[in-house]
Amino acid sequence: MAITRSTCCYCGVGCGVLIESTADQITGVQGDPAHPANWGQLCTKGLSLAQSAASLTNRALYPELRLTRDALRERVDWAMALDSVAERFADIIEQHGPDAVAFYVSGQLLTEDYYVFNKLAKGLVGTNNIDTNSRLCMSSAVTGYKMALGADGPPTCYDDLEAAHTVLFAGSNMAYAHPVLFRRLAAAKAANPAVKWIVIDPRRTDTAVMADLHLQIQPGTDVALFNGMLHHLLWEGLADPQFIAAHTTGFAELKTMVRDYTPKMVAEICGILEEDLRLAAEWFGASPAALSLYCMGLNQSSHGTDKNLALINLHLATGQIGKPGAGPFSLTGQPNAMGGREVGGMATMLAAHRDIANAEHRAEVAALWGVDSVSAQPGLPAIAMFDAIKAGKIKAIWIVCSNPAHSLPNLAHVRLALGAAELVVVQDAFINTDTVAFADVVLPASSWGEKSGTVTNSERRISRVNAAVAAPGEAKADWEIAVAVAQRIEARLRPDKPTLFPYVDTEMIFNEHRLLTQGRDLDISGLSYAQLATSPQQWPFPADASHGQARRYTDGVFATHDGKAHFHAVQYLPVAEATNSRFPFHLITGRLRDQWHGMSRTGRVPALFEHSAEPALTMHPLDAERRSLKAGDLLKVSSKRGSLILPLDIADSVASGTVFAAMHWNGQFLNSGGINEVCSSAVDAKSAQPELKHAAVRVEKA
Ligand code: SF4
Repeated sequence: MAITRSTCCYCGVGCGVLIESTADQITGVQGDPAHPANWGQLCTKGLSLAQSAASLTNRALYPELRLTRDALRERVDWAMALDSVAERFADIIEQHGPDAVAFYVSGQLLTEDYYVFNKLAKGLVGTNNIDTNSRLCMSSAVTGYKMALGADGPPTCYDDLEAAHTVLFAGSNMAYAHPVLFRRLAAAKAANPAVKWIVIDPRRTDTAVMADLHLQIQPGTDVALFNGMLHHLLWEGLADPQFIAAHTTGFAELKTMVRDYTPKMVAEICGILEEDLRLAAEWFGASPAALSLYCMGLNQSSHGTDKNLALINLHLATGQIGKPGAGPFSLTGQPNAMGGREVGGMATMLAAHRDIANAEHRAEVAALWGVDSVSAQPGLPAIAMFDAIKAGKIKAIWIVCSNPAHSLPNLAHVRLALGAAELVVVQDAFINTDTVAFADVVLPASSWGEKSGTVTNSERRISRVNAAVAAPGEAKADWEIAVAVAQRIEARLRPDKPTLFPYVDTEMIFNEHRLLTQGRDLDISGLSYAQLATSPQQWPFPADASHGQARRYTDGVFATHDGKAHFHAVQYLPVAEATNSRFPFHLITGRLRDQWHGMSRTGRVPALFEHSAEPALTMHPLDAERRSLKAGDLLKVSSKRGSLILPLDIADSVASGTVFAAMHWNGQFLNSGGINEVCSSAVDAKSAQPELKHAAVRVEKA
């Protein structure tokens, strides 16, 4: 039996694992006792990795192709599939320009995969139309960090979990979404019961059950709450005037604005007790170290960036940042959403946290890549990208390691877009996703346990991912497929020039990526594959460093032009879609403990259905009684955009007037694409992240 050191492929905790394997099969997975993210711990999902990896059911095993949209796809060899994709992309680029093609990639790709796709789009094709499912996950956190602190990435680290005296969870059911970190927090609280937990969530989650104070706010009222807490902090003298004066700008304007956010008024908006708001503010402001942990509940909102900014305002006003146990800590949903941002793999950014709008940054990237220029035209983020496909402006889309026909909001619109495209290429490890149904070309990709590279977790720690077994059938690593197509497109678009894609392994790609980070805030020029093999490290890690940097801004100097953190006076605005007499319920969405995203992997492990066996819509007992509904009744859940059928679950974990559904269930389990049939594609104007967490819906017996 061989042992291979690697990293879990699920959430952003980034747990180290030891894979046990025979010649051709993964037989077991244990937590890596030497990995600083988890010290040997794993949650149920990580512990079942061997079962999900061993199953070959529904794997994409060989390339498939159809030459016309009304034909059936047929098995072809790799050369034919790659030639076809390259030719059709090159044809469309030559006929309609580079912005007529797009790439939709994934926070589950490894950094090296991400790097090659980003270079293919921005360096070779000349379009910034490359976005990712991380747009649905992290983009409001990114925008919030950049606007307030000057740079993307959390200032905190996992050791802050034990050092915090007050922990504020905002829109995060950490007990389910980041279980191993949650256990660390729970152990720290058990060791020191004086530690206070405040949970802000419209639902009484398993995280909220363990809190000292649960603020069960009305959906989408977070900005009002944070402004109200700040009002109380300021008027009770719990702010830190020295920190504000020395390290921030914009305070006067914010102070004037929050004058109106009286705790009484805010408590009414949020639907909570005024004294609870005051208590939360006091626990936060008077704490020796206050840490906030936040996730999709803040980000997946049409005002997600404002929610991030209003929360960061609390940290800046109280000096709760840049010291052990304190700071705004955005928890990454996907295993490598952070790594994708590092290589610039989104429509709105360039490599190594550079900006498309910055001419110097574009010139730097072009020079490092050896291309004439990088386009100044911003790419289209996810929702706008699918709108442009439907409108015929984008003719070809290459979807990698993602299932947008399940994970994007307003699924009927997404299906129309995929149906309208001239060419849909789907590169995936699985053949049965909702999106593959629209594919003209399927490129089979290797999956976890079969491929190598690096990922970056929520605390900026880069870890190696290693192959333990060969990929099944003819599946190939994502970066290899990208390189093979890129070299064919190069032959058409820049003949007689040296290839931009000379890579023979992932280390070559990592070394090029590392070169681009030199001198940037995420400088990793001091890191090597060899070092990462035994010692996962946090960035920044410049050439002269002996170890990574656990916390940022410890000297009070921020990454802005003036070195100061910036307050932002953000006003509360309601959810994009108000409830009304036709759609009277607030629908909120979230995760189950033992499932992951669209269930491609976790849905293959029977034991992971023991915690939640089937899809459901959760409704408060009073609402069910008023409608004469009983548990198990089949309900039709409808919004302006679509509907789906779900069985009823009755529980008081949701407030009256609010219903809840899990995000995971998809076309394999339902007669629809999942709860996103009804979800809204309204986006945050600053981050372009959609409001997946809220929709106004009607509920009736099916
Ligand atoms: Fe994997 Fe996240 Fe569970 Fe760790 S906490 S084992 S990274 S799913």
